Amino acid sequence: MTNENNPFESAQELIRSAAHKLNIENSLLEQLLEPMRILEVNIPVRMNDGTTQVFKGFRSQHNDARGPMKGGIRFHPGVTRDEVVALSMWMTMKCATVNIPLGGAKGGIIVNPKELTEGAIERLSRGYIRGIYKYLGPTQDVPAPDVYTTPQIMAWMLDEYEVLVGGKEPGMITGKPLEVGGAAGRASATAQGGFYCIEKLIEKMKLNRMDTTVAIQGFGNAGSIMAKLLHDAGYRVIAVSDSKGGVFRSQGIDPTRALDVKAQSAHLACYEEGKVCDISKIKQTKEYKPISNDEILELEVDILVPAALENVITGKNAKKIKAKAIVELANGPTTPDADKELAKKGIIVVPDILANAGGVTVSYFEQVQNAYNYYWEEEETFQKLKKIMDESFATVWETKEKEQVDMRTAAYMVAIKRVSDAMRLRGRAKRFVQD
Ligand code: NAD
Repeated sequence: MTNENNPFESAQELIRSAAHKLNIENSLLEQLLEPMRILEVNIPVRMNDGTTQVFKGFRSQHNDARGPMKGGIRFHPGVTRDEVVALSMWMTMKCATVNIPLGGAKGGIIVNPKELTEGAIERLSRGYIRGIYKYLGPTQDVPAPDVYTTPQIMAWMLDEYEVLVGGKEPGMITGKPLEVGGAAGRASATAQGGFYCIEKLIEKMKLNRMDTTVAIQGFGNAGSIMAKLLHDAGYRVIAVSDSKGGVFRSQGIDPTRALDVKAQSAHLACYEEGKVCDISKIKQTKEYKPISNDEILELEVDILVPAALENVITGKNAKKIKAKAIVELANGPTTPDADKELAKKGIIVVPDILANAGGVTVSYFEQVQNAYNYYWEEEETFQKLKKIMDESFATVWETKEKEQVDMRTAAYMVAIKRVSDAMRLRGRAKRFVQD
């Protein structure tokens, strides 16, 4: 019996169940159930009032059998060691699902960045890199942005790393601003990849864009760009939300307008984000109804897109979900208990390790461009991304049909087969014959 709110136990359960279906050797399974290495650092940061505060940070390096490890860094007060480890396991699976030559890692700092000044965030970012830089690098482990970390933060981290190692290493981190070696299209890549999945999904569901309604929980990098892509393509985005609440409009919401409203109420001086729900106040019409973050999950829509944090769809609220399909832009938004309930109800779940893999795929493209010091146009990036996402969606869908499993189990089966093949070739499996 696992604790469904512990993402580490959830990740272990997913890996265990897919590995058993594939008959993976125990010696390999044991290695997949734990990270190769976990780094824990305490980072002293001088605050603007002259005091010093100490923040705890982690980096979990799960598996490097398929290549250098890859995974974002999260700044959030709810970060835990177990969460970071789970996220690193999902990164290994995600890179393998879309067949890019990378392993999995993840980082996090327990901090509420909304309470820090920009200067303190820069000192925290640099301190984190000083603590772990020996274990990072383009051929070892390559971080990227995640919740509440930005291209600017990546630029500070790159700068600190290059000072420490004494040379230019733009490929040590991705999600950078274009001016310091970022890739065109990286900022919208996660949403773009999820959008390609939705396009394939509606084909399978025999829906057309104009009749497809969507609700999106989380209006940050992933969620707001997804809302815009869907709206521009003709889908009806009828509800969006952020940490402060949400808004519903049955005729559809214009995401660009919602983003403007959010920007207007933000306090830029201290990283405090604005509220998307303010659109209902500004528009002053009854069409815009405020809704809570619980209610948005339970709306009657064709597609629900969780794009905020993990564990929002649980064994408790899964019974109330009325969406026909869920496309997981967030990492780990659905617990294993919820998965069972959703399967009973026939709700299709396009799992995180496929649906949000656009981000890491374009991060991989960024590393490739950094290595060549030669940069592509955005159009070329998205052409290459579409090919990878379409092929990965097709492979996972075929596996689901062939094995008669849900899409998440299918994606894990595809990923674990690829990771375990690489581990075996590297001699990491126990040999039964004496050599
Ligand atoms: P972000 O910081 O840009 O945005 C997070 C959003 O979630 C914000 O709008 C915030 O208000 C909202 N939020 C926070 N707590 C919430 C709550 N309790 N209820 C509702 N909304 C809440 O982060 P992001 O980069 O958009 O990441 C969102 C999710 O997507 C995360 O799970 C992340 O791991 C995943 N993801 C992001 C990327 C990427 O490239 N950005 C890639 C893969 C996966």
